[in-house]
Amino acid sequence: MAEMRLALRTAEVIAVGSELLGWTRVDTNSLFLSERLASLGIQLTLKTVAGDDRDRLADVFRHALDRADLVVLTGGLGPTDDDVTREVVAAVLELPLIEDPSIVERIERRFARRGLRMPEINRRQALVPKGATVLENANGTAPGLLIEAGVRVVVLLPGPPRELQPMMEALVSGALAERATAERLYRRVILITGRSESHVEEAVQPLYSRWRTASPPIETTILASPGQIELHLTVRAPSAAATQAALASATAQVRDAIGDDVFSTDGRSLEEIVGDLLRSRHLTIAVAESCTGGLLLSRLTDIAGSSDYVLGGVVAYSNAAKTQFLDVSANLIAAHGAVSEPVAVAMAEGIRSGTSSDVGVAVTGIAGPGGGTPQKPVGTVAIAAVGPDGLARVRTLLFPGGRALVKFQASQEGLDMVRKMLIAGC
Ligand code: AMP
Ligand code: MG
Repeated sequence: MAEMRLALRTAEVIAVGSELLGWTRVDTNSLFLSERLASLGIQLTLKTVAGDDRDRLADVFRHALDRADLVVLTGGLGPTDDDVTREVVAAVLELPLIEDPSIVERIERRFARRGLRMPEINRRQALVPKGATVLENANGTAPGLLIEAGVRVVVLLPGPPRELQPMMEALVSGALAERATAERLYRRVILITGRSESHVEEAVQPLYSRWRTASPPIETTILASPGQIELHLTVRAPSAAATQAALASATAQVRDAIGDDVFSTDGRSLEEIVGDLLRSRHLTIAVAESCTGGLLLSRLTDIAGSSDYVLGGVVAYSNAAKTQFLDVSANLIAAHGAVSEPVAVAMAEGIRSGTSSDVGVAVTGIAGPGGGTPQKPVGTVAIAAVGPDGLARVRTLLFPGGRALVKFQASQEGLDMVRKMLIAGC
């Protein structure tokens, strides 16, 4: 069709649901939507959380339509009386709601599969504003809707993330992609561990100004969380080809500046990287943990297929457990303390020989808030890794933060020691 259509540049999201105004639920859909919209070069310019209230929602929706090319509403598509999104949107756009028999049938079939009759109230979910496109919901009863409102586009999606996400993915590769501008955002995420945010910033700063004036220009964002720094490189350009070369070159420059502390440039997590290194070298790993309570092994086993290289592990929390399960001598613990490099090494050696793994890694530390001393304050963690060469690497670190953060950072450093040991070719 030759009709004039506005290229979508800006979007607003309205998250609908009174529970989102309370203190127990938070709107996460808009985070997901923002990222998916950005991939199409559509900028999220404002987001609103609205309760299940017809008048306020109508007001918010009307204003959003005045400001943005695309308005995405999430939630409030359920069958009950407090689900008002569909009716409010139809009313504001002055579109009659018409029952779509194929939706009724589909919902009836969903209930029938569970041996149930469709409650009459579910008929509301089959009401479609005249002219709207119905979006299949593979994971629930409420279909989504796409409405052409003059030059604007309005999208209604169900609230539950597992229902909304696949529907949005379909829109991003279909109807919304057709309506976006030719420009796309291309992003590369570089993950770094083992340095502070300011050290990363210092090392990378000289690159920023060069990138900003390059063609195409590369924008950077640095995001720090304990144990991990993320460097996001973004390029807005009409084609992937030139962009990929620019991003690859920028990534190589970061690697030159930061070295092995860069652990991922392709979206893989640290546990995935470690797993891939172990698998490619046909090596196995086993874990001995004290203060991390199994977190390190849990992270390794978060990866599908980790049974190829994970043999197992022991959580040896007490001194007696360290002796009983890992063969750490009681004298060694008495001489150096449970949180010490000799004990960490003995734990790693103990699990390695006990399981006959190629790599043994161990963590022992003080997660707090109690248990610290002037010599070994809360956050002190000794980490050891023994490689296929039988040699031990050991470090003692002092992590900031509360219990959960100390545990996470210790697991991160344990994984990273294994990674660095393997890339060094041991
Ligand atoms: P609804 O589509 O309004 O019936 O929403 C059903 C459920 O989806 C709610 O109880 C929430 O658990 C979830 N939900 C709704 N809106 C959001 C949102 N913006 N972010 C995350 N979860 C949501
Ligand atoms: Mg709701």
